[in-house]
Amino acid sequence: MGNRVYRKVLFWREALRLERYVVQVVAVDPMQVTNENGNAGAALVGGMVDGEIVRIYTTRRLKEDDIIHELLHFRYPQESEEEVRRMTEEMLISRNSIYMGSGMKERF
Ligand SMILES: [Zn+2]
Repeated sequence: MGNRVYRKVLFWREALRLERYVVQVVAVDPMQVTNENGNAGAALVGGMVDGEIVRIYTTRRLKEDDIIHELLHFRYPQESEEEVRRMTEEMLISRNSIYMGSGMKERF
Protein backbone atom coordinates (compact mmCIF):
# COMPACT_ATOMS: atom_id res chain seq x y z
CA MET A 1 0.00 0.00 0.00
CA GLY A 2 1.28 3.46 -0.86
CA ASN A 3 2.36 5.81 1.92
CA ARG A 4 -0.38 8.33 1.23
CA VAL A 5 -3.04 5.63 1.35
CA TYR A 6 -1.53 4.25 4.54
CA ARG A 7 -1.53 7.68 6.23
CA LYS A 8 -5.20 8.07 5.36
CA VAL A 9 -5.96 4.62 6.75
CA LEU A 10 -4.21 5.53 10.01
CA PHE A 11 -5.99 8.87 10.20
CA TRP A 12 -9.45 7.40 9.74
CA ARG A 13 -8.73 4.44 11.99
CA GLU A 14 -8.02 6.93 14.76
CA ALA A 15 -10.87 9.30 13.86
CA LEU A 16 -13.30 6.36 14.06
CA ARG A 17 -11.80 5.11 17.33
CA LEU A 18 -10.56 1.85 15.87
CA GLU A 19 -7.00 2.15 17.21
CA ARG A 20 -7.07 -1.32 18.68
CA TYR A 21 -7.56 -2.87 15.27
CA VAL A 22 -4.92 -3.47 12.65
CA VAL A 23 -6.09 -2.28 9.24
CA GLN A 24 -4.51 -3.88 6.20
CA VAL A 25 -5.07 -3.11 2.55
CA VAL A 26 -4.85 -6.18 0.33
CA ALA A 27 -4.33 -5.73 -3.40
CA VAL A 28 -6.42 -8.13 -5.46
CA ASP A 29 -5.73 -8.92 -9.10
CA PRO A 30 -8.85 -7.86 -11.07
CA MET A 31 -8.49 -11.04 -13.11
CA GLN A 32 -9.29 -13.00 -9.95
CA VAL A 33 -12.58 -11.16 -9.53
CA THR A 34 -15.61 -12.17 -11.55
CA ASN A 35 -18.75 -10.15 -12.15
CA GLU A 36 -22.31 -11.49 -11.90
CA ASN A 37 -21.96 -13.04 -15.37
CA GLY A 38 -18.85 -14.94 -14.35
CA ASN A 39 -16.47 -12.80 -16.40
CA ALA A 40 -13.05 -12.03 -14.90
CA GLY A 41 -11.69 -8.50 -14.60
CA ALA A 42 -14.32 -7.01 -12.32
CA ALA A 43 -13.67 -4.23 -9.79
CA LEU A 44 -13.84 -4.89 -6.08
CA VAL A 45 -13.52 -2.95 -2.83
CA GLY A 46 -14.63 -4.85 0.25
CA GLY A 47 -13.79 -5.27 3.90
CA MET A 48 -13.41 -8.43 5.97
CA VAL A 49 -12.72 -8.77 9.68
CA ASP A 50 -10.46 -11.44 11.11
CA GLY A 51 -10.23 -11.10 14.88
CA GLU A 52 -8.58 -7.73 15.44
CA ILE A 53 -7.48 -7.34 11.85
CA VAL A 54 -9.61 -5.43 9.37
CA ARG A 55 -8.64 -6.17 5.78
CA ILE A 56 -9.77 -4.01 2.89
CA TYR A 57 -9.53 -5.95 -0.37
CA THR A 58 -9.29 -3.86 -3.49
CA THR A 59 -8.53 -4.15 -7.18
CA ARG A 60 -7.52 -0.49 -7.45
CA ARG A 61 -5.82 2.30 -5.55
CA LEU A 62 -8.04 3.20 -2.61
CA LYS A 63 -9.56 6.65 -2.46
CA GLU A 64 -10.23 8.36 0.82
CA ASP A 65 -13.96 7.74 0.60
CA ASP A 66 -13.31 3.99 0.05
CA ILE A 67 -11.32 3.90 3.28
CA ILE A 68 -13.96 5.79 5.26
CA HIS A 69 -16.75 3.68 3.77
CA GLU A 70 -15.17 0.33 4.64
CA LEU A 71 -14.13 1.41 8.13
CA LEU A 72 -17.65 2.74 8.79
CA HIS A 73 -19.12 -0.65 7.80
CA PHE A 74 -16.86 -2.22 10.37
CA ARG A 75 -17.48 0.43 13.04
CA TYR A 76 -21.25 0.36 12.58
CA PRO A 77 -22.10 -3.14 11.30
CA GLN A 78 -25.81 -2.61 11.92
CA GLU A 79 -26.06 0.33 9.52
CA SER A 80 -27.44 -0.09 6.02
CA GLU A 81 -25.38 0.47 2.87
CA GLU A 82 -27.38 3.64 2.27
CA GLU A 83 -26.64 4.99 5.74
CA VAL A 84 -22.93 4.14 5.43
CA ARG A 85 -22.82 6.07 2.14
CA ARG A 86 -24.49 9.03 3.78
CA MET A 87 -22.09 8.93 6.74
CA THR A 88 -19.10 8.67 4.38
CA GLU A 89 -20.19 11.86 2.60
CA GLU A 90 -20.68 13.59 5.91
CA MET A 91 -17.25 12.59 7.20
CA LEU A 92 -15.53 13.77 4.04
CA ILE A 93 -17.29 17.11 4.37
CA SER A 94 -16.40 17.46 8.05
CA ARG A 95 -12.83 16.25 7.51
CA ASN A 96 -11.28 19.70 7.72
CA SER A 97 -12.84 20.47 11.06
CA ILE A 98 -11.72 17.06 12.36
CA TYR A 99 -8.14 17.85 11.36
CA MET A 100 -8.26 21.26 13.00
CA GLY A 101 -9.96 19.96 16.13
CA SER A 102 -7.52 17.14 16.83
CA GLY A 103 -4.37 18.93 15.75
CA MET A 104 -3.75 16.27 13.11
CA LYS A 105 -3.69 18.68 10.19
CA GLU A 106 0.06 18.27 9.77
CA ARG A 107 -0.28 14.62 8.90
CA PHE A 108 -1.55 15.35 5.41
ZN1 LIG B 1 -20.74 -0.50 1.45
